[in-house]
Amino acid sequence: MAKKGISTEKELFDQIKTYITNPDSIAQIKKAYDYAYDKHKDQKRKSGEPYFVHVLNVAYELAKLEVDPNTICAGLLHDVIEDCDVTKEEFIEEFGEEIYEIVEAVTKISNLKFADEKEYQATNHRKILIAMAKDVRVILVKLVDRLHNMRTLEYLPPEKQKRIARETLDVYAPIAHRLGIAEIKNELEDLAFYYLDNEKYHEIARLVESKKSERDQQIDIMMEDISIVLQMHNIPFRIFGRSKHLYSINKKMITKNKRFDEILDLLAIRIVTKTELNCYEILGYIHAVYRPIPGRLKDYIAMPKMNMYQSLHTTIVGPDGRIYEVQIRTEEMDEVAERGIAAHWSYKEGKIHSQKKLVEELNWLKAFEDNSELDAKEYMNDITHDIFNANIYCLTPRGRVIDLAAGATPIDFAYRIHTEVGNQTVGALVNGVLVPLNTPLKTGDVVELRTNKNSTPSEDWLKIVKTNHARNKIKAFFLKKELEDKEEFIKAGENMLKEDIRRHDLDVDELMDDKKLEKVANSFQLSNVNDMFYAIGMKSMTTIAVIEKLTKFGKKEVDLDYIEKITKKNAERNHIVSKTGIVVTGISSMKIALSPCCSPVYGDDIVGFVSKGQGIKVHRRDCPNMNNVKRIIDVSWDENRPDIKYEASIKIFSKDRSFLLTDLVTIVAQYKANLTFVNSAVNNEDLTATTNMSFMVNDLEHLENIMANLRKVDSVISVERAIK
Ligand code: MN
Repeated sequence: MAKKGISTEKELFDQIKTYITNPDSIAQIKKAYDYAYDKHKDQKRKSGEPYFVHVLNVAYELAKLEVDPNTICAGLLHDVIEDCDVTKEEFIEEFGEEIYEIVEAVTKISNLKFADEKEYQATNHRKILIAMAKDVRVILVKLVDRLHNMRTLEYLPPEKQKRIARETLDVYAPIAHRLGIAEIKNELEDLAFYYLDNEKYHEIARLVESKKSERDQQIDIMMEDISIVLQMHNIPFRIFGRSKHLYSINKKMITKNKRFDEILDLLAIRIVTKTELNCYEILGYIHAVYRPIPGRLKDYIAMPKMNMYQSLHTTIVGPDGRIYEVQIRTEEMDEVAERGIAAHWSYKEGKIHSQKKLVEELNWLKAFEDNSELDAKEYMNDITHDIFNANIYCLTPRGRVIDLAAGATPIDFAYRIHTEVGNQTVGALVNGVLVPLNTPLKTGDVVELRTNKNSTPSEDWLKIVKTNHARNKIKAFFLKKELEDKEEFIKAGENMLKEDIRRHDLDVDELMDDKKLEKVANSFQLSNVNDMFYAIGMKSMTTIAVIEKLTKFGKKEVDLDYIEKITKKNAERNHIVSKTGIVVTGISSMKIALSPCCSPVYGDDIVGFVSKGQGIKVHRRDCPNMNNVKRIIDVSWDENRPDIKYEASIKIFSKDRSFLLTDLVTIVAQYKANLTFVNSAVNNEDLTATTNMSFMVNDLEHLENIMANLRKVDSVISVERAIK
């Protein structure tokens, strides 16, 4: 490969003086030059060259990008902290904070180790690097550092060459592309290509070479042709042929599956002019003379690429029948295309005051805010938020990159590794130093966790963590623990009840019957037996209260058993279980309905009334409408009643006050009884209120419970079943 770069102080300063003229700036750079020269003077590179040649070339490449004087100083000094044991204090005293910060960041990035091949992710590596840089100048120094290292890669062993070339292709070339620095990107790609697939590299180089003179001749003729057209119209322009770099030819051949001679834009011409309008004018004249190929016109002036690249591209057929790609752009666009982001804030004398601020606040991107093009905006958001601010990138000791929200702690980190690791974390070492678990992590931190398999999370962690992921995992842990604890309380409650039944000389097997327990639980408004055991275990319910009910239900059960026996006897011939849940013995095939006047519910003492043509109406035994009524028959509730609810009607008498109705309805809702009717009338003379309510209940017990609680409501005087 052709050698590039410089070897003398004069070459460097000649380049610098093309755009920096301020004597103070030049003096500052000279000071950095001498300092670096002195510090590196005894060191040699693998090539045998003095180490300083590397530093000199890094500074030279930066000067070609026209960066500010401080960045050139940083380029000259970029290896002194790492390689020459210069202390922070000494450095700052000599060159100030700003240059120190650039050099420090470059050093940190250089020390980033991705030890484990399996853990290595190029995309993350790229992100971590950009995030660590924070200041775009750090990236520029790092890029040209890598560029020069790639140029001198031949002195390293083949294995190292391949590893570094791969990293360059995966990490550094995309960064250069992202920043729009085509010159550096192309050279990095070709250098990496050379080391990764030497055979292919030479094959393509040979192909390019063999066609070169033929192609150069064709292009020369075409350029002359176009020049005549443009001169006729008096438009200012520069025109030149352009060669594609080898790596991109190879990539095109692979991705588009084309042979070398099929690649269209091998014959490429670039026209650089003065104004945007000139660009479109030139495009118009060219299309008027040469036939454009449909679908190949790209207007990157109106729609800039993500990396701010602007240009018009078109593909035309020349008079010779060959196909040419033509790029048309202004001088400024051309500068941006070659130098990318650097071109946008390139250092110009007289603008020194704004330079620092520009870089600090990333204002170099603000210029695009006024530009309504979506791409440019997206680009800005992408860089400023996604990469610079939103995330931090930390490393495991094995080099796996873990990306986390800004402010994340070692606990967040631990949960990202594995839930178990998170739960068992007891401590963390960040960059080898033991830190508190609430320490905010920074990009580039290497985090090593200390775990103990008997340890569990602390509830305080919920206040410390920054990621939802960790928060959810911690919550899940406590929820699971709560459930496990609940199991224990349920068991304890069951045992307490058993023991107490025995202590009262009662029959455990008889009372601890599933059905009975279920009923008792329901009577306490608990949905299942386990909840009741849990309440006992938690000591929020006494065993005595449960035993009392169990024995009471026990007696009832006996009665029910008796009824059941009788019912069963008659079952074959005249047993009606209606959908109301009522059993009528001795009478068959009659309609059964609950009377709306007293609205009986399951558990009420009931009687049946046979009305002509309307079947059996069921009333409460104490319903006033049943006084002096004949043809009353015995009815009872079916023990195996269907799962239905009964509408109960009640009348509430109270003093009037605001929010009374709300309070009443709330009680009903609390007991999960669906309200079907409510009406309230106020007597203005004595300021009392009468409220009628209907709602659906499971049974009498449910209803009585609700009524008892309604009686406790402030201002309520009485609550009774309603008779309509
Ligand atoms: Mn270096």
